[in-house]
Amino acid sequence: MKAFRCGDVVPGCTREFTGADRAEILAQVAEHARADHHVEVDPALVRAVEAHLRDR
Ligand SMILES: [Zn+2]
Repeated sequence: MKAFRCGDVVPGCTREFTGADRAEILAQVAEHARADHHVEVDPALVRAVEAHLRDR
């Protein structure tokens, strides 16, 4: 499993995501980013998420 903590990229955000792989995490993060941070996923955001993925 992979895990990502949004607060590692967006200070103050407490959302955490877990998924089987990078694609599952990115799908959840894309939805959260749009709904709660009003941003669309772009290559820079994908790189930021990948840089903070943890194994769980
Ligand atoms: Zn967030």
